[in-house]
Formats: sequence, structure tokens, C-alpha cells
Amino acid sequence: MLFRSPTLSGGEAQRIRLAAQLGSNLRGVCYILDEPTIGLHPRDNRLLLDTLEALRDRGNTVVVVEHDAATMQRSDFLVDVGPGAGVHGGEVVAAGPPAVVEAEPRSLTGQYLRGERSVSMPARRRDEDRGALRIVGARHHNLQGVDVELPLGRLLAITGVSGSGKSTLVHHVLVPALKAALSRSRGDGAVLAPAHCDRIEGIERIDKVVEIDQAPIGRTPRSNPATYSDVWTHVRDLFAQLPEAKLRQYEKGRFSFNVPGGRCEACGGAGVTTLEMNFLAPVEVVCEECGGARFHAETLTIRWKGKSVHDVLEMTVDDAAEFFRDLPKIARGLTALQDTGLGYLKLGQPSTTLSGGEAQRVKLATELQRPATGRTFYVLDEPTTGLHFEDVEKLMQSLQRLVTAGNTVLVIEHELDVVRAADWIVDLGPEGGSGGGRVVATGTPEQVAGVEGSHTGASLRALGI
Ligand code: ZN
Repeated sequence: MLFRSPTLSGGEAQRIRLAAQLGSNLRGVCYILDEPTIGLHPRDNRLLLDTLEALRDRGNTVVVVEHDAATMQRSDFLVDVGPGAGVHGGEVVAAGPPAVVEAEPRSLTGQYLRGERSVSMPARRRDEDRGALRIVGARHHNLQGVDVELPLGRLLAITGVSGSGKSTLVHHVLVPALKAALSRSRGDGAVLAPAHCDRIEGIERIDKVVEIDQAPIGRTPRSNPATYSDVWTHVRDLFAQLPEAKLRQYEKGRFSFNVPGGRCEACGGAGVTTLEMNFLAPVEVVCEECGGARFHAETLTIRWKGKSVHDVLEMTVDDAAEFFRDLPKIARGLTALQDTGLGYLKLGQPSTTLSGGEAQRVKLATELQRPATGRTFYVLDEPTTGLHFEDVEKLMQSLQRLVTAGNTVLVIEHELDVVRAADWIVDLGPEGGSGGGRVVATGTPEQVAGVEGSHTGASLRALGI
């Protein structure tokens, strides 16, 4: 018997269903869970794992897709798939008790479990005084009139157990107030008093607020990492300037799949056509006209170093970075994608096939290319959701780079690898719901680790901080 929950996306919904299962005395059931630890504070993680083990002990099988180290270590049998991502993955690298995976040299998971690799810590905590945002008297949901100081120019982590008020503080109080104030200062917004708090001080020190989430970067197969990151604009410029293109009077629009001209009209430049099936989900098939090449045959005769625009779309980011090494405008965007760990993606990979974590990193890469104003405030809500250790490391390096450029990055996060690498923590709680909504501890990870009564502090102490 298979227990499936196809409509449940979040870890929370899965856990609710799981709790219901515990009450039943079913045995011989195969439970399949996809990242049940999402959004869980380490304290609650242990309780979840106790639950899964209880189900097993009753004679059931529990299969978990998970990135969380504690879950892996407590499993009876671990299957590691990889070794890399995308074209570099797809093999079973190791399978057996956790010790077997730990002993496999090719397994990145094993290297992390052995403690050989870990998310890197900054050489030092940033402590320069670059001013601060001060939220005064935040009152909403369970927030009990809290005052919160957020030093600017640092990597900030908002922590706390589920329901402690983190999302309320960031998404209901801080971000709307920043957006309202910034649009007002540009003269294109209505004058609004900040909602749910008395006031926020220091907003004049920032000029932009950017939320980077895991939502898809585009909904059509014509959107891809190259178009989103603007690499494609520069590739089109290059092709339009080639002598053969000039001779034929091809302009840059000729090399776009978003406007008619050079693209295959049968598929509208998508390379695939969608077949509507009665009573079934639509099916995508390769375009009969262009065979998936997305452009007219004449467009494809224009080549740079022997490659057509379609050949370029088929390249991985790593290959393209090498191919366009001497063209800084194109190379810059490709390097940014590599820096966020996306070197394995194909330039033309449809956005609709990217995972949430990949979409998030394409967005980060796009931000990393922008000229640094040094006054941008970035907000990320549980950015490590769904990411393997290796990807958490790449994500953290990208975030640290944004902060080094003078910006402020705020993350809501439970992942201790992220929390301990932050410059400054605001820990809310101590519990969820009516037992939360207060500031339990603020300061560097070392300072928060020293606060009795902070669950985050206790978890950091357990890590030896
Ligand atoms: Zn076509």
C-alpha cells in the first residue's frame, strides 16, 4: 500500500498527515515522504525522526527523500544519487547503512557525513558600524510589541521554532514597510504609515528591497537561464554583428525566440509543441518543423566559431563560459551563473524544468551581475529548502558576496550551517504561537549560543560554537 500526498507541497502539510497516521495501527505500509524536515527547527527535527522510527518499529517501511544530515545519519539504509547535479548526476553512487555511504570516496554526501566538507564559515564576523534598521513596537499575530535592531551591511539570520513569529516580522511588518517607504521616496506610491508597528527607523539608509524566492523564473519554455540572466541579449548582439548576418541584413531580433523573424513559427521558438489530450494532461512533443532547433534553417547558418545560436543554447553554462571567455559582456553573466553553482545547466534549459532551488540561484546570479549600489536589502525565506550540502555551500558563498559588496542580506532559516555563518542573529520565540512572539536573543552566533532559554542558542552550543 502506497501512502501518497501529491497535493501537499510543504513539510508542514506532510507532517500533519503523518501525525494522523500515527494514530492508526496500520502495519506493512510503505510511507514515502519528500523532505519532511522542511521548515523545522533542529529541536523539532528530532521529534519528527522519533515519529518516523516509531512507524518503522511497528512494521512499516519509511522512504524519505532528504538533504538533512541528521535524517541520513539515523536511517537504516541510505541511497546516495549523483555524484553531481544535472548532466553530472543520475547514478547510484553508494547504497547501504550510513557508514557505507560515508566510506565511499566519490560521494559528496559521504564527505559531508564524514565532516570533511562543511559549509564554510566567514573568516570573521562583520562588525563595522554601517547603521541599522530599527523596527519599533511590532504588534501583529503573536508579536508582542517587539523592538528589533537589524545592523546593515551584514548577513542577518532570523531564527526561532515554527510559529515563533519570524515570517510575521519579516513578511508582514518589515518588507511591506520598506516597500511602501521606498516607493514613496521615489514619488510613485501612496503615503502609508507602516502597518503593524509604531515605526521603522533607518530606512533612508537603503535604496532597494529585493526578495529572492524559489518561485519559477518563467512559465513558458521560451524562458531559460540565458534569457533571464540577460546573457542572451549579448549573444544576440554578437550574432547580429557577424559579417554574414550583416550581409543578409539580419538584426538582433532575428536571433530571438520571442518575436517572429528568425524563430521557427511552427513552435513559436519553443522547440516543442503542446498536444492537448482530451481528459489527460497536455503532452509536449518535439516540433516537427525545426526538430527542436527553435530557429529557421537560414538563421542557423549564421555561426560564430562554428556554432549557431541553437548550438549555444545546447551548451552547458560551463562550456559556454569557456567558449565566450574573450567576450566580457557575455562571460560576466555566465561566470555569475557558475558562481552560484549552476555550471551544469544548459543555457536553453526551459525555466519550467528548473527546480525551486535552481530558479532561486538563477535569480541570485542575476543580482550578482548588477552594479552594486551597496544599499540593497535582500530577503530570503528558507533559501536552503531542497538543497544538498554542496548547494548550500554555493548559495552561502553567493550571499556572502552580496554582503561583501556592501549590501544587507536577511535570511529566515533553520539550517544551522547557515545560521552559524551569519554575522548577526535575531532569535524569536521562545516557543511557537502564544508562547512566542518575543525576541529571545540577538547578537553574533557566539553571543546567541550563550543565551539560556534560546532553542537556537542550545543548537549552536551543541555544534561547539
Ligand atoms: Zn519549431
